[in-house]
Amino acid sequence: MVRTTGALPEVKKHYGDLQNFTGGEWREPSATEWIEDPNPATGDTIARVPLSSKDDVDAAVQEAVSAWDAWRNLLPVRRVRPLFALRDLMERQFEDLARVVVQDMGKTIDEARGEVRRAIENVEVAAGIPSLMMGYNLEDGAGEGIDEEVLFQPLGVFAGISPFNFPIMVQFWFWPYAVATGNCWIAKPSEQDPIAMQLVMDLVRRAGFPAGVVNLVHGAKATSEAILDHPDIRGVSFVGSSPVAKAIYARAAAAGKRVQCGGGAKNVLVVMPDAKLDQAVSNMVASCYGCAGERCLAGSVVLGVGEVHEDLRRKFSAAAAKIKVGYGLDEAVEMGPVISNAHRERVLGLIDQGLAEGAKVALDGRGLRVDGYPGYFVGPTVLDDVGPEMAVAKQEVFGPVVSLFESRSLDDAIETINRSPYGNAATIYTASGRAARNFRHRAQAGNVGVNVGVAAPMAYFPFGGTKDSFFGDLHPQGRDAIRFFTESKVVVTRWL
Ligand code: NAD
Repeated sequence: MVRTTGALPEVKKHYGDLQNFTGGEWREPSATEWIEDPNPATGDTIARVPLSSKDDVDAAVQEAVSAWDAWRNLLPVRRVRPLFALRDLMERQFEDLARVVVQDMGKTIDEARGEVRRAIENVEVAAGIPSLMMGYNLEDGAGEGIDEEVLFQPLGVFAGISPFNFPIMVQFWFWPYAVATGNCWIAKPSEQDPIAMQLVMDLVRRAGFPAGVVNLVHGAKATSEAILDHPDIRGVSFVGSSPVAKAIYARAAAAGKRVQCGGGAKNVLVVMPDAKLDQAVSNMVASCYGCAGERCLAGSVVLGVGEVHEDLRRKFSAAAAKIKVGYGLDEAVEMGPVISNAHRERVLGLIDQGLAEGAKVALDGRGLRVDGYPGYFVGPTVLDDVGPEMAVAKQEVFGPVVSLFESRSLDDAIETINRSPYGNAATIYTASGRAARNFRHRAQAGNVGVNVGVAAPMAYFPFGGTKDSFFGDLHPQGRDAIRFFTESKVVVTRWL
């Protein structure tokens, strides 16, 4: 389990007291409260994060409001030029961005590289706005000689509140589209790992966005609430846990804002007797333990249908036991720590509760220690004989813990998925086209995999989600994002 050799260098040991980025400048926040931001592998403090006040949020919004008129009137082909420049700067800083994600969030360097790549892809897609934002028209649509058309127009200032598990990527699901369509943006990253977005703002400045178009405010709950209550913010994009998503959806909607809120997940992977088992197992292990299980698309429950269950239990536990755990800057490491000590305690508590409720431990990660790294590690854990009513089977664990149970039939497996309040992702492993089609039609999940354990939508597709995994109408990314950040204006013209 222990790998401590050959770690890549950290970009810096300490990033100091973080500042807000508003009106194109770094500004000292008026926050009276600051929190420490630890490296989850070492436990060392690597920055201090301000919990920005209502006045700090207001200052950012004023900058964004002042920038809006000129920005929305810039030709679309000109508005995307800073996005092209940003893309190039991100490519040049690619490794630094990825290494900061590892140091602050805890995932492995390859996972961090994947995250930065996904962020860049969103910039690339949003750079197509001159085509993507086109409206539509119908000659004589409103009568003879009277044409009717739809224009898509920006609304003003939007804000994005994002979770810890993808400290760069989730902000990029939103803001390149918001800005490319002619809006201004306030980013509020997670207070648990905000350093990477701090680096991104340096690149935003160098890319040539006019001052005030893209802003960053650090903080936690109270800062988010100041965003939700600000009368000049027209819409909010949120991703995080379901209870917070639900509360934010209600509060923003009551204030008349546009709102899209991604929530938590409890994703089920179903293995049919005709699945290619070895291939499925290696794919499932990557899904369940990638990012230490802190991925909203991670598999969390593995259901073997019928006779496959015995082989599955054996092969899955053996493969999970081989995962190398350590500091993600070591390229040989396959799984890093979880985000914080508090989260580690919560994950361990859910394992204990599962065992107390009658589950058996097939692989126990509770005692794992990594030499030289006193951080927040939990080893890969497999619980067997889990019942659908146990807490560990129902609640989002968001850690490297998998519940195995047997299902009598595909119908039963689909029913288990559909009984869950969550609806983020579900996967089937099968060689049967009929079973796969049945599953993708009936499984209540926004992202469905067929022989794919992380059914991740690329930047040109919307990031789905249903039930408690998504509140709102239009999802992040792709065409949905363009509709979310614009309003339709109908123009009827009688040509004289
Ligand atoms: P979280 O809900 O604790 O926090 C998310 C963001 O909301 C942070 O920026 C935080 O500062 C802010 N916040 C926290 N409490 C708040 C409150 N009461 N009012 C207003 N703002 C508040 O989530 P997290 O622990 O950072 O992230 C993990 C969660 O995110 C998991 O549940 C995971 O499934 C989910 N997630 C979902 C998706 C998706 O696409 N559906 C993607 C990634 C993560």
